[in-house]
Order: sequence, then structure tokens, then C-alpha cells
Amino acid sequence: MSPLPKVSPEVARRRAIFLTSSVVVLVLAVGALFLAARSYLAQGQLPLPGLPEAGAAEQQNTVAPPECTLLVSGSTVGLSREKARVLTDLAARDQNAAEPVSNTEAKVRVLWPEQSGQAAGVADALRGLTGPALDCSATLGPAQLQTMGPMGLTPRAEAVWNAVAKVFGTLPAGGFKPGGVTTGHIPGSSHYEGRAIDYMYRPITPKSIRHGWVLAQWLVAHAEPLLIRTVIFDRKIWTPGPAGADAWRPYTVTHGQVDDPSLQHLDHVHVDVLRNTGA
Ligand SMILES: [Zn+2]
Repeated sequence: MSPLPKVSPEVARRRAIFLTSSVVVLVLAVGALFLAARSYLAQGQLPLPGLPEAGAAEQQNTVAPPECTLLVSGSTVGLSREKARVLTDLAARDQNAAEPVSNTEAKVRVLWPEQSGQAAGVADALRGLTGPALDCSATLGPAQLQTMGPMGLTPRAEAVWNAVAKVFGTLPAGGFKPGGVTTGHIPGSSHYEGRAIDYMYRPITPKSIRHGWVLAQWLVAHAEPLLIRTVIFDRKIWTPGPAGADAWRPYTVTHGQVDDPSLQHLDHVHVDVLRNTGA
């Protein structure tokens, strides 16, 4: 090995100063860059790549409540209004034809394959075996004040009458007559304006209660297009509301004998339609 060339002390001193200065400058430059980057990030001026903005993340987590819910074997299942109409039509027709619930169950499997695993529970709920199982949100459109026609019903109430008859056949009913009714109902009743129908389910038996719930649930599913404002049956009342609201609630008799089965609506389904917009 050849010996290293000799360097004079002066050159060695200059090299040492140059190296030390370079290291100091480099450390200062890196430190300044780090501080600048941290400052920008703190002000939110540099979005982090690959991460969604906060607003977008919140929107992804927001799930709109379903238009309708059905209580099946103690659990709530969401469904569209359209599906609720189809299923309540099915329940009405099967009830009229005295089809066994097992037949409704088989049809539920076809119409609502997502719930085929609990089709028996769905069929029971639709056929009124579990009381008020179906609830739908509804926003009623504009409506003008109407006068009663020859049947003693306003055109909107007559539309309900016709729609129900088309699916259920002609049901025993009261609370209206040609020329109007003026007695037999609470003061200010919608019956006196021809806006209400009472579908009778007498005598009161477990079967009549089941059948009443089939109609009551059908009315709830069809409330929006028919502008239905109230459904009352079996000591429960439903009025249209936003999705997620608890629309079926206890109905309290406020006039007359409070334990009267008729006033409690155990023997009939009451339905009335909008008077005019918002009323
Ligand atoms: Zn009534």
C-alpha cells in the first residue's frame, strides 16, 4: 500500500471548516422544511392524499330510514311503500279468498325474496295475526275543500271507498249516507262532512280483529295516494308522519262511555281523508 499523500495543516483546517459548515446548513434547511410543512397541515391547506373529506365521510354514514316498517317476529324489517302496497293487496285478496296463511307465506317468498327466510312471520303480520305490524311514512299532497256527492261522501272519500271495494269487495260499512249524517259521532266529526267511512267488523271475535287489521294496514300502505289522514282500529290510531315516527299509538276515547267497544273502535275500522291542505 502506498502511503496517503501528506496534507498541509492549513489545508486540513480548511477542509474541517467546510465540512462543519455544510452539516450545519443541511440541518437548518431540513428543520425549516419540517416546520413549514407542519404549519401548512395545521391550517388545512394541504389535504392528505387518499383520505375523503370530513363531510363526505359523514354523508356515507347517513342511512335514510325506510318508507315503511313491518314488525316480524319481534324484529322490525324495512320496506318501500310500493312493496307495502303489493303485500297488503296480497293479504287482502288471500283473506277474501279464505286462503290459509301458509299460501300467503308461499307468495311472500316470491314477492319478497329477501325475506323468504321469515316468510311465515311476514305472512302472519300481513294477515293481522300480530296486530298493528305495518307502519308507513306518508306526506300528503295539496288538497282542496270538497263537498259531498250523491253517496254522502266527498270525492276523496269516495276514491277510498272505490279503491277498498276493488281489493276487498263490498264491505259492510257506515258513517255516511246520501244527504249526509248529522248524528252518532263525536262533535266536529269528519263523518258530518262526508270525509269518513266506518268499515264494520261485527261481532267482535279474534277473527274479526285479524280481518280489521288487514284492512287497517292496507289503508296505511295506501295512505299517500288516497290522501288518508286518519285510521283508527282496536284502540289504536294512525296518522301520516315522517319516516321513523311511531305512527300507531293508543287511541283514547274522549267523549261518551270510555269503555264502549264501538267508541274504542273494536268493531270497526275508521278511515278519513284530508279536509283540505294540511287539515
Ligand atoms: Zn268513524
